[in-house]
Amino acid sequence: MRSTSRQRLYRTEAIILRRQDFGEADKLLTLYTPGLGKTRVLAKGVRKPKSRKGGHVELFTHSNLLIAKGRSLDIVTQAETIHSFLPIRRDLLRTSYAYYAAELVDKFTEEGVENRPLFDLFLDALFWLGDAEDLDLPLRYFELHLLGCVGYRPQLFQCLRCTRPIESVTSFFSPEDGGLLCSGCGKRERGCQEVSPQALATLRYLQTRDYAVCQRLKVDGPAHEELETLMRRYIIYLLERKLKSVDFIDALRREETASARPILEERIGS
Ligand SMILES: [Zn+2]
Repeated sequence: MRSTSRQRLYRTEAIILRRQDFGEADKLLTLYTPGLGKTRVLAKGVRKPKSRKGGHVELFTHSNLLIAKGRSLDIVTQAETIHSFLPIRRDLLRTSYAYYAAELVDKFTEEGVENRPLFDLFLDALFWLGDAEDLDLPLRYFELHLLGCVGYRPQLFQCLRCTRPIESVTSFFSPEDGGLLCSGCGKRERGCQEVSPQALATLRYLQTRDYAVCQRLKVDGPAHEELETLMRRYIIYLLERKLKSVDFIDALRREETASARPILEERIGS
């Protein structure tokens, strides 16, 4: 009997992507793991004040979990924090950015599909979002590389219609085509966004270089706005829906903290 019970346990690292109340005192956790991809497990009793596991399965926590196979849902039996990402938790804007990153991972992945590069990218991004002064820079880097990891790497060098190389003049981003069109092909197209040479240079830089180099980039406000609009439109097009976390980021920027805070805190859970 002993060997059977051992086979029914497995250990994995995980980042907590999502938490939902389940039953009286439990939480249903959506995890992102290096070897199993996205998976859902039950954490029993974690909503009780005295729960020992509770602190180790908070949103964004990088934890080491021991999980028992269950008939319908697997169950967390032990949890130990590896990284708690306190800087993200202490700052509401950082929290909203991390929440957006987690929502992207959740929406762009299927359960049970391993994607180690995406796990590594997401883990790195949580450090960057706790650390960066200009939060939009790591977020754009994360979006671009996440899209690469899940098969939607935007084409930024060649026109997707006439295949000519894109020069550093005004070009057009087409969500439908998944990348750039040259000025000749793009200006006749509906649903394309004009891309300035500065925004294009930034996108290319972020797509092709390591974050260690990219974090030194200085991007001005208008270019950031342009890039955010472009990436959001592409992502909304791919997912065929808007993300909830985008509303939180926007509300915080408009300084509507009073309305955003309780909803965000409720989602993050404690
Ligand atoms: Zn063209």
